Amino acid sequence: MRPTSPSPRVIAPGSTIGILGGGQLGRMTALAAANLGYKCEIFEPQRGCPASQVSNGHIAGSYDNEADLLRFVSKVDVITLEFENVPVKTLQILESYKPMRPGPKALELSQDRIVEKSFLNNCGIPTAPWAKVETAEEMEMAVEKLGRPSVLKTARFGYDGKGQIKITEGMDVIAAWKDLNKVRCVLEGFVSFTKEISVIVARSATGETKAYEPVENSHKNHILDTTTVPASITDEQAKTAMDYAIKAVEGLELIGLLAVEMFVTTDGEILVNEVAPRPHNSGHWTQDACVTSQFEQLVRAVCGLPLGSVERLGRAEMKNLLGNDINNWPAILAEPGAHLHLYGKAEAKPGRKMGHVNRLFKD
Ligand code: AMP
Repeated sequence: MRPTSPSPRVIAPGSTIGILGGGQLGRMTALAAANLGYKCEIFEPQRGCPASQVSNGHIAGSYDNEADLLRFVSKVDVITLEFENVPVKTLQILESYKPMRPGPKALELSQDRIVEKSFLNNCGIPTAPWAKVETAEEMEMAVEKLGRPSVLKTARFGYDGKGQIKITEGMDVIAAWKDLNKVRCVLEGFVSFTKEISVIVARSATGETKAYEPVENSHKNHILDTTTVPASITDEQAKTAMDYAIKAVEGLELIGLLAVEMFVTTDGEILVNEVAPRPHNSGHWTQDACVTSQFEQLVRAVCGLPLGSVERLGRAEMKNLLGNDINNWPAILAEPGAHLHLYGKAEAKPGRKMGHVNRLFKD
């Protein structure tokens, strides 16, 4: 018999969680769900994807095929996502059948930098100064307002530094916008920062929120390389960063996780860069260095369970294994204090996230 639910809002262990997207984030969510006695059903076009390898079922459907979506909803009790580029329309269809956590509003926001920055600023959360660019005239006005250097980013579908151009002295700004195919963009003032940090915050179906402490991120070629925790910032900066993350998740009334990436400026200010309504690469350290991992926290949040402790057990570092880095697995396994996580991807293409290692150190 399935465990009984203490309240209609609680989705009890034994139920099935549907996950949109089948990458490593879905895989690690499914593993955490299994630990709590849940089943997972993956919706992802690609067969043999990392999440499907560790889940109960996989629908290799298409996000705009209603019959595929209906097959999916018939198998699940609640739905979450691990991938942001799902059409908002898909979420609107799904939420008319089953609880969709997070819902379309959070997804819409994270897909569009203009909507995202407007929302953050309306919540009183500071970002880099920015201006929208939809015409050549707006491009010129934006550069006049924000100066050079500044950063031109496509409003939609940019990630890991793709869809971005740094506007420098002497550059033909209209040509730069044309290089981005004249799509809707934002121009951001260039932030002089000392550190990039992030906070992952959970909000449960019951409205309870819990934020992990800020972590420090370093990137190589625009891809996350290492996350270090604790971040070397002041207690006041840490509190401000966590307050912004909580404000954002509450403003969105999001159920699930929100990852909030921020800059610490040379003046010591915290500015939010972007948000993602899902587990995040900069939260992988929680798997081995926290009482509750971000993946378990997501399961707890979407199922309406009490959120787990975000207490950190020691100092930690997460390092991504990209492409052929994965070949170091024997040495990593031999290291005391190292926890290896591999994603089951068949081909180690250059720059592809193949796994990560969490290293724990005594405080
Ligand atoms: P994003 O795609 O917005 O996450 O940007 C990718 C990376 O570009 C960030 O992690 C920063 O290192 C850098 N970056 C983005 N926006 C700015 C900015 N306004 N000023 C300075 N650096 C930036």
